[in-house]
Amino acid sequence: MAGRLEGKVAIVTGAGRGIGRGEALALSEEGAAVVVNDLGGSTGGEGADQTPAEEVVNEIKKNGGKAVANYADVSNYDACEAMVKQALDEFGRLDILVNNAGILRDRMVFNMSEAEWDIVVAVHMKGTFNTIKHASIVFRQQRSGRIINTGSSSGLGNAGQANYAAAKAGVSGMSRALARELGSRSITVNCVAPGFIDTDMTKALPDAQRDALLGQIPLGRLGQADEVAAAVAFLASPRAAYITGTTIHVNGGMYMS
Ligand code: NAP
Repeated sequence: MAGRLEGKVAIVTGAGRGIGRGEALALSEEGAAVVVNDLGGSTGGEGADQTPAEEVVNEIKKNGGKAVANYADVSNYDACEAMVKQALDEFGRLDILVNNAGILRDRMVFNMSEAEWDIVVAVHMKGTFNTIKHASIVFRQQRSGRIINTGSSSGLGNAGQANYAAAKAGVSGMSRALARELGSRSITVNCVAPGFIDTDMTKALPDAQRDALLGQIPLGRLGQADEVAAAVAFLASPRAAYITGTTIHVNGGMYMS
């Protein structure tokens, strides 16, 4: 059976691990060619290693899909322009942009350094702008495109995450503004908001905090990367053509609106 995204081309940022890896695999399974972006640093954001992106590209190719690696730091404006150009050069078009790359620098505000504030806002919020700026030019010209950004339940305000909560709330506001700006050209802009998903980002949590969070989830378990990816694949699909400016919460009922 043909996938819902045959002939489409997608960029997924932060796709070397965790949720982004799941999203790259899911979009590929639906038929899209994928630019697998990943910096290859630590959860804190340091370093750069090409292995994670290459492994996901190899996995996609082994399954019969098309993919190419990109190692840009999404907080770098020019590197994001080059990433969009790479999609066009390699695959001839760009249809779907998934902004997923993310890091944590959790700290109470009175202990938080300026650098810890700046890097979290730079990766999540500026990184989301950086890719959209360049992709939206392509999408406007072709009068179609799907932009899927990554919010978080933490955007509602978790103690110890002032930088992350501010950045995620910023991504949500930016997404709603862009849904209005770009809608007239049939470009949709939506968010997924993961709750408590089993990835490297959450593995580091102390047991007590993990148990407390689990107790808030009606479905009684952590989510999996492929469950967030399923929502992203839907938002990228033809069936979601009339959905824009919204957020799909993938959180097992942890927060409801
Ligand atoms: P993860 O396992 O740590 O993966 C994050 C990915 O982003 C990594 O592959 C990382 O690459 C990449 N990345 C980090 N900084 C980057 C940069 N500057 N440029 C390019 N790539 C970069 O985390 P995750 O749990 O999958 O999180 C994915 C997204 O979901 C994030 O936006 C996160 O805030 C959001 N989220 C997660 C949860 C959760 O429960 N897990 C909940 C709510 C929201 P390297 O590590 O290879 O450098």
